[in-house]
Amino acid sequence: MQKLAIIGGGISGLSLAYYLQDKFEITIFEKEKWGGKAYTQKVDNYLFEEGVNGFLSNSPKTLELCKEIGIEPIKANENAKKRFIYDDKLIEIPLKPIDFIKSDIMSFKGKIRLLKEFFIKPKCEEESVEEFAVRRLGKEFNDKMMIPMLAGIYASTPEITSMNAAFPKLKKIECEYGSLFKGMMKLKRGGQPSGELHSFEWGMSEFINRLKEKIKATFVQQEIKDIDELKDFDKIVLATPAYESASILKKYEKLSSLLKKIKYNPVAIVGFDYEDIKPVGFGILTIKEKSLGILMDKYIFPNRNGIRVMVGGARYPEIKNLNEKEIIEIAKKDVEKITNSKNPKISWVKFHKNAIPNYSLGHQQLVDEIFEEAKKVDIILTGNAYRGVSFNDCIKNSFNLAKELKNEKIAG
Ligand SMILES: Cc1cc2nc3c(=O)[nH]c(=O)nc-3n(C[C@H](O)[C@H](O)[C@H](O)COP(=O)(O)OP(=O)(O)OC[C@H]3O[C@@H](n4cnc5c(N)ncnc54)[C@H](O)[C@@H]3O)c2cc1C
Repeated sequence: MQKLAIIGGGISGLSLAYYLQDKFEITIFEKEKWGGKAYTQKVDNYLFEEGVNGFLSNSPKTLELCKEIGIEPIKANENAKKRFIYDDKLIEIPLKPIDFIKSDIMSFKGKIRLLKEFFIKPKCEEESVEEFAVRRLGKEFNDKMMIPMLAGIYASTPEITSMNAAFPKLKKIECEYGSLFKGMMKLKRGGQPSGELHSFEWGMSEFINRLKEKIKATFVQQEIKDIDELKDFDKIVLATPAYESASILKKYEKLSSLLKKIKYNPVAIVGFDYEDIKPVGFGILTIKEKSLGILMDKYIFPNRNGIRVMVGGARYPEIKNLNEKEIIEIAKKDVEKITNSKNPKISWVKFHKNAIPNYSLGHQQLVDEIFEEAKKVDIILTGNAYRGVSFNDCIKNSFNLAKELKNEKIAG
């Protein structure tokens, strides 16, 4: 059997190992925590996710993987349907078009502007999320809806994010149907996410631990600093963040400098618990606060007991210069302003200096160049830096990569 080294024991590396275990003799190297950004921290009787909150049920590969390894995901309860935006006051995000018309989430003028979307010519070339949103849906939609949404998904802002890389499906609908609304009507989709939020009874680590148990491989707790440490292997996959891959691959100057172009946004996750905090629901996204959002974990999943605040992102990169106490203070003040809740029973923080890759303008082209360059030196790259940032994307990409590697081997 060929010997395969996988660097990085996050979901990308672990799921790839799972799919390839019968075809290769695998060694996985992890420098810190198995699960990477999917890691559940137990603090007293609180479960706080350091990163991944959950996944949507619209990606069959994740659900299939759960079944194969014998773990049952749990669906967020009905409270998860209630989502809020804080725009100097709390506004519930309407789910049905009729509720949207009645809601004060946007002005009357802003709502009328949305109707123009049907008649705006499609543009298939790359543009930023802001350009896309303003062009098709109006400035108010960008300011009131896209700013909080980008913060929630990418910890980023619309003007620095590529629409084509971050929301390829929406861009495809525009190009194929000429209009988002026409496309969504034909596809019978509203503006809501097409899947339900799932996690696991004891958090994401329950899944990671089970997955690890089901992988036939050698697990090594070690940081790989240089690709030359792996000379004994026939194939090498780097499932590490792009900046780490750049460092490991420093001897390949061009590849390394391309990888460094993928920038990451810093995010701190602050865990609190407040008696009777309101509103009951999935959580609150903000438009201008240093806290990008508040996730009401305790109202949507069992065994959680706390809430989490996401602080920083591209909106507030200066978070990199703060200590934990200062970060907690920011989160505490924002929670008080937004919900009127004071004096949390517990405070916990996890700071990710490089949390989430920013899919900037030119991202897709950059990734093509990176992959082309990696191929030349026989290195395989995977992970959330390239073609999809979500947990589901990582599993789907591992599945597809495994298929490709198996075929390659059969062909060879
Ligand atoms: C705060 C936060 C919240 C998120 N919430 C969600 C969510 O709710 N839903 C969702 O779908 N996605 C979410 N994401 C995105 C999600 O985390 C990722 O898509 C996914 O977990 C990334 O997995 P990965 O394996 O590609 O990378 P990582 O999880 O980053 O794994 C990479 C691994 O490589 C290891 N490593 C790095 N360098 C080396 C080295 N030199 N040697 C050995 N090992 C090394 C690291 O320690 C790490 O374990 C969130 C991300 C963050 C940061």
